[in-house]
Amino acid sequence: MTIALHLQKVFQRIDDSVNLSNNNSHPVTLLAVSKTHKINKIREAFEAGQRDFGESYIQEAVEKIIALSDLDICWYFIGPIQSNKTQKIAKYFDWTLSVDRLKIAKRLSAQRPESKRPLNICLQVNISEEDSKSGVLPTDLLELVEQIDQLPRLKLRGLMCIPAKTDDVKQQAQAFHQMQKLFTLLKSQYPDLDTLSMGMSADFDAAIAQGSTMIRVGTDIFGKRN
Ligand SMILES: *Cc1c(COP(=O)(O)O)cnc(C)c1O
Repeated sequence: MTIALHLQKVFQRIDDSVNLSNNNSHPVTLLAVSKTHKINKIREAFEAGQRDFGESYIQEAVEKIIALSDLDICWYFIGPIQSNKTQKIAKYFDWTLSVDRLKIAKRLSAQRPESKRPLNICLQVNISEEDSKSGVLPTDLLELVEQIDQLPRLKLRGLMCIPAKTDDVKQQAQAFHQMQKLFTLLKSQYPDLDTLSMGMSADFDAAIAQGSTMIRVGTDIFGKRN
């Protein structure tokens, strides 16, 4: 099957989920996660109309961004962020969804080139409170938002999560519902927030039902990763 057809199927699933949910007043952005996939596959998706792409590995991502600079793509960094990656993220990306510490946010703000608009960011929340996962704990979120909101070269857009893996739809819904509650609470203080990024190939239906505004889909667009 071509990437165009895969995209069509994903959009059909998005429509179905939106129609089934009570949260059907907002649009859902599809972020195509192209990590590990070849440049020609990204071109193919672009030709099919896709504009938002997510990458997780900084070296691979920068090579792709340079090779595809003839295309009007909006690039998202979605992998874990250590200090040594912030300069490249600030230089090459439009968004990052995986900020979870003040130190990283300060570096991104300081390193964002003057010639570019502020870097759009989402804070990654460790919603299932797993020891091994990146992300700020829900109890620490508000304080981090207050601090990051002060940084001049970042634009805080919302929240992102990767809940613990489970096939149990009830458990999926529960984690996403917790995120929706956090997002709603934050929005009451920061009304400009507009992005709740949750849901991947296996669970985006459940995420949309809980108000996701941006799903991140790799496998169902580009196929299995090695
Ligand atoms: C790889 C990745 C995805 C895409 O996962 P699929 O299961 O292939 O859809 C989404 N979000 C993040 C943060 C990822 O690292």
